[in-house]
Amino acid sequence: MAKIMITVQGYRCERCNHEWIPRIKVNEDPVICPKCKSPYWNKPKKRKK
Ligand SMILES: [Zn+2]
Repeated sequence: MAKIMITVQGYRCERCNHEWIPRIKVNEDPVICPKCKSPYWNKPKKRKK
């Protein structure tokens, strides 16, 4: 059994900092964060003036 290091692009939710790696190859980014189900996981909070 060999240890291999696979570099895959994972995702990190900007809301809950949950990190995950998509199990299947997808051409599209996940729609929601699998943890907090936020559709805005990809968008950092914006500061409102
Ligand atoms: Zn999240």
